[in-house]
Amino acid sequence: MVRESKYYDVLGVSPDASESDLKKAYRKLALKYHPDKNPEAGDKFKEISHAYEILSDSEKRQMYDQFGEEGLNGQGGMGGMDAEDLFSQLFGGGLFGGGGGRSRPSGPRRGKDMMHHLKVSLEDLYAGKTSKLALQKSVICSRCEGRGGKEGAMQTCRSCNGNGVRIIMRQMGPMVQQIQQPCTDCRGEGEVISDKDRCKQCMGKKIISERKILEVFIDKGMRDGQRITFSGEGDQAPGIIPGDIIIAIDEKQHPRFQRKGDDLVYEAKIDLLTALAGGQFAIPHLDERVLLVSVLPGEAIKPDCIKVIPNEGMPTYRHHNHGHMFVKFSVEFPNPNWTDPETIGKLDGILPPRAQLPSFGDKQVDEVVMADADGYQTQRAQGSAYEDEDDEDGRGGPGVQCAQQ
Ligand SMILES: [Zn+2]
Ligand SMILES: [Zn+2]
Repeated sequence: MVRESKYYDVLGVSPDASESDLKKAYRKLALKYHPDKNPEAGDKFKEISHAYEILSDSEKRQMYDQFGEEGLNGQGGMGGMDAEDLFSQLFGGGLFGGGGGRSRPSGPRRGKDMMHHLKVSLEDLYAGKTSKLALQKSVICSRCEGRGGKEGAMQTCRSCNGNGVRIIMRQMGPMVQQIQQPCTDCRGEGEVISDKDRCKQCMGKKIISERKILEVFIDKGMRDGQRITFSGEGDQAPGIIPGDIIIAIDEKQHPRFQRKGDDLVYEAKIDLLTALAGGQFAIPHLDERVLLVSVLPGEAIKPDCIKVIPNEGMPTYRHHNHGHMFVKFSVEFPNPNWTDPETIGKLDGILPPRAQLPSFGDKQVDEVVMADADGYQTQRAQGSAYEDEDDEDGRGGPGVQCAQQ
């Protein structure tokens, strides 16, 4: 659920679009409305660039999804970046201009964002928690400060002019094909260093792998898929601005509750006497509490009926008021000696009379007796309904319950 979809609409994507969907959509529209190509388009190019600038930044996107445009307070402008800059950062400069060879924007490149998934229990999403997450990341070698060895010892590779790749021409029938191959002299690194000058800690790689512990604050009411961004905590490398570490929350399935947004759904199994004549049952909550629920005499709970316990659902993210708890009932039938005439007599006296059979006119009437359906037959009868989602507890639907032990 997002609060507003304006930016998504501008790019013509749905709010659950992936990063690459967004990029594709932006690229298509940016090429169409770029002022060099389409001077009549007016502010359209700025508008799509702005929408993409917000949505391509996971932190800003999260704020926008949650709180709409006002959630971006102050960051609403192009954040110092101009539509043209954003465009050339993505697609390289001189795309429409006269054959510019510059394929990279000036200034340092930004490293890749790293996405991690964190499995979180419903209990922790209910109460909030700080989780520790250990991960490996690349950091600039402290011993050589990212130079790879003694100062000035690293030399540009002459075989590839520092490109790390060499272009090889190959004759393929009538055509000449250009193939890029990693440079063998520098192993694709574009630089060479003599062994004696090489940094002993990073072996000349300039970076080392380090174990990092992130403290992830899981706020009350966070949802499955929600992201937490650690700005600039991504892999370090010389000459780049590190990207972000993004933690995506994976909500674990819960044995008792099903979460629907801020609401919880609980399936309560109660006995027939409680259903008809009232009584109590207990719901262990996600915190240390137990909810003791009263069924009032005469309330007459019917199977599959749904009741609500107000404000006992999940806390809402940031505001921390609560959704509701819905209770979905199933009624367990007792298994007493129903053939005992005395019991049947009592039931006859209490329950409403049996439904009258209609008249069959001159139709032929065959009297039959039923047998219990076995598991396979039950499956056949239920067809695709058997694969239904709420079958995880193995109850296998009502048909199975008919069988008496
Ligand atoms: Zn080093
Ligand atoms: Zn080389």
